[in-house]
Amino acid sequence: MDPTDLPVLDHWVGGAAWAGESTRTQPVTDPALGVATKHVRLGSTADVDHAVEVARAAYETWGVASMAARQQVMFRFRELFTARREELAEILTGEHGKVLSDALGEIARGLEVVEFACGMPQLVKGAYSENVSTGVDVYSLRQPLGVVGVVSPFNFPAMVPLWFFPIAIAAGNTVVLKPSEKDPSPAVWMAALMQEAGLPDGVLNVVHGDKEAVDALLDHDDVAAVSFVGSTPIARYVYERGTAAGKRVQALGGAKNHMLVLPDADLDLVADAAVNAGFGSAGERCMAVSVVVAVDSVADALVAKVRERMATLRTGDGRRACDMGPLITREHRDKVAGYLDAAVADGADVVVDGRGVEVDGEPDGFWLGPSLVDRVPTTSAVYTDEIFGPVLSVVRVGGYEEGVALINASPYGNGTAIFTHDGGAARRFQREVEAGMVGVNVPIPVPVAYHSFGGWKASLFGDTKAYGTHGVDFYTREKTVTSRWLDPSHGGVDLGFPRNS
Ligand code: NAD
Repeated sequence: MDPTDLPVLDHWVGGAAWAGESTRTQPVTDPALGVATKHVRLGSTADVDHAVEVARAAYETWGVASMAARQQVMFRFRELFTARREELAEILTGEHGKVLSDALGEIARGLEVVEFACGMPQLVKGAYSENVSTGVDVYSLRQPLGVVGVVSPFNFPAMVPLWFFPIAIAAGNTVVLKPSEKDPSPAVWMAALMQEAGLPDGVLNVVHGDKEAVDALLDHDDVAAVSFVGSTPIARYVYERGTAAGKRVQALGGAKNHMLVLPDADLDLVADAAVNAGFGSAGERCMAVSVVVAVDSVADALVAKVRERMATLRTGDGRRACDMGPLITREHRDKVAGYLDAAVADGADVVVDGRGVEVDGEPDGFWLGPSLVDRVPTTSAVYTDEIFGPVLSVVRVGGYEEGVALINASPYGNGTAIFTHDGGAARRFQREVEAGMVGVNVPIPVPVAYHSFGGWKASLFGDTKAYGTHGVDFYTREKTVTSRWLDPSHGGVDLGFPRNS
């Protein structure tokens, strides 16, 4: 098909598709087919300015809408979304490549946050202290911030926006969302569904784009806060530029997640966990396990079990009931495959090389099969880089102490896990390990929606994590009122600080 005949995906502003003024576009590919299926607009600074203006105007009424009115929209959105989730999963697989069952899993985890946001009236309840001094009461309120920006990555085109906009909106803010330009359609689909659920026009807007659009959000005086998720260098940049402009910023970055395996662990459970967490979504998850840290005495047996399971995985088109789909782009696939050459050059042992994989899919798809690299030197880029693909490394250590020291030396601190039958070791690990999310016999410890999601160190810039009560804190500001209703009497002039009486 002539690429100029492809449809163009518009922004969503003021409750309708909107072309904006920028003429820049970028192809969106179906990674399993290796061909472009549409183009997406890349918004300019002026396009972002317009969307912020629309969101600012919508805030005038949404910011003071009753809690009941906001809550009704969230309940309705949840109902519609639940009924139509398969439609979104198809769209998601067609742009991201992850297998349909995984797309549905992503949607389910995102819906949890919608359910959490349905309880917003409970979450923004303030505190009240009666009669702190004679006739004086003190109470606190949580109020929305205004217009907030959300910038999301390609790897969870539904779930990551859902980490943020339901809470922001239920708390009374209006939103400008800048999704990944690689798989932008789920964001527009969800914005249209929010409108169907009764959300007033302009409360949730989507502007597509790249650095220009992100910078415009970071610099705009009327954007009060920005939530970002993406790679560490961009997260750091977004945090620095946004906070320099006086905004609240939470910027979640990249990861290199380690799974420590002690000799007493159930190796079959560990092998299943390593394969699921290493190769699910083709390793393109910020919580993917990319390094198995195995104590020497069980490493050979574990590698054999992992290899056995890998042989059963079917790589192919996510619409064909395969286990693992393609990578997001040809360039990314080539970059990830290049780490297998680096592994050999650095003296590691490539146990399974995914470059020769037989796929159930079109030949032009961006394929790379599951790959396993043992005895990875910790100086190798295979170990130090976030590869973000289906390459699982094994590093061998002498015991618990050496394993924890290795994990704590990583610049990242997103997720980590320990596999053991020793409760004492697990308790020590949860205390000593430097990561924001810890699994005990659980490989991908993504917190449920009423806890909060976020890493430590170079995996999160800012003070608040995503969703849960941290999300509510991020999107609201507290106001504390000290009020006095006098009895019909007058205390007279007194220039001193009030003394409690
Ligand atoms: P990315 O950093 O390339 O892009 C993320 C967003 O930033 C996109 O919307 C993109 O358009 C924008 N962007 C890209 N370059 C920019 C620039 N120079 N200036 C301003 N904005 C820019 O990340 P990605 O490749 O889309 O996603 C994968 C990364 O996201 C991985 O590193 C992964 O670990 C990370 N991630 C982290 C979490 C987490 O919770 N910590 C969750 C999901 C993904």
